[in-house]
Amino acid sequence: MTNEYEVIIIGGGPAGLSAGLYTSRARLKSLLIERGVVGGQIADAELVENYPGFAEGISGLELGQLMQQQAAKYGLNTITAEVTGLELKGEKKVVKTTKGKFTARALIIASGSERSKLGIPGEEEFSGKGVSYCATCDGPFFKEKPVAVVGGGDVAITEALHLVKFASRVKMIHRRDQLRATRILQEKATAEPKIEFFWNSLAEKIEGEDVVKRLNLVNVVTGEKSTLDVGGVFVAVGFKPNTDYLKDFLPLGKAGFIITNEKMETKIPGVFAAGDVRLNSAQQAITAAGDGATAAIFAEKFLSG
Ligand SMILES: Cc1cc2nc3c(=O)[nH]c(=O)nc-3n(C[C@H](O)[C@H](O)[C@H](O)COP(=O)(O)OP(=O)(O)OC[C@H]3O[C@@H](n4cnc5c(N)ncnc54)[C@H](O)[C@@H]3O)c2cc1C
Repeated sequence: MTNEYEVIIIGGGPAGLSAGLYTSRARLKSLLIERGVVGGQIADAELVENYPGFAEGISGLELGQLMQQQAAKYGLNTITAEVTGLELKGEKKVVKTTKGKFTARALIIASGSERSKLGIPGEEEFSGKGVSYCATCDGPFFKEKPVAVVGGGDVAITEALHLVKFASRVKMIHRRDQLRATRILQEKATAEPKIEFFWNSLAEKIEGEDVVKRLNLVNVVTGEKSTLDVGGVFVAVGFKPNTDYLKDFLPLGKAGFIITNEKMETKIPGVFAAGDVRLNSAQQAITAAGDGATAAIFAEKFLSG
């Protein structure tokens, strides 16, 4: 396999796959590097109802696979490897991976984000033993058990609505007195009899023996402490960008997200960023795909300019 490309795309979620479709159709020799399953976070979504063109909705896994097939049809090369570092000084950018070095004149960084951790006692100890970051992946393990979902945004509500199919009861722990989620999701959650809300509450400690048994809470208004008997704790409190591998090579913005302009250009000429990895991204599959297309179009202009 040759190691020289015109464009290298880091990450195979909606942003990277969309960028790959555009660069390949533009006849640019393109390589997409993905460390895991192609599709990115959207592969974890059971049903995607807000991606235009799929009036009945589509499973996230299938959506990711279709995106990959479409890009591959136009010649996108994909490899499974983790990007560990970059060299951005010369005209040719060097991408270091677990499968060797690759070079290109333009880079599109689309490495997305992953769930933030709560950082409380018991979280790490019981990770995979009742503590989960993906209801779609782990929901069926919690049949007829009470579970807690920590968070109050779209992802937390989506997780809770998925879990009602399996769990006996879903206890939503939110640190504020109202949800941040979009209205349609709030309406669905409040209409669901199995979902119970614990407002103004912070998760303090996860306890158990071999598996999770209890979640300790503190009320941020009254200071009152309480304990919930639960068989699982689903964490949905936000996202952190996958940019640790970039921090020595690229100036990063707030919380490690990448700053770009409206052309998806970073501060380094020829280096673009797209999707959830960008500061202030809308964190949706469609916006990530749009960013990927924009980055690819301006990468093409950069290469021909
Ligand atoms: C459970 C769930 C449900 C969702 N439901 C919806 C929905 O219904 N509608 C909607 O619009 N959005 C939904 N989203 C959000 C949507 O999935 C994301 O906004 C979108 O996937 C972001 O795309 P992205 O390409 O920017 O990043 P990601 O999807 O995060 O993809 C980034 C990819 O980069 C890879 N990567 C990271 N670091 C490296 C590295 N060093 N080397 C190589 N590869 C790397 C990762 O493995 C990943 O595959 C949902 C998300 C989740 C978690």
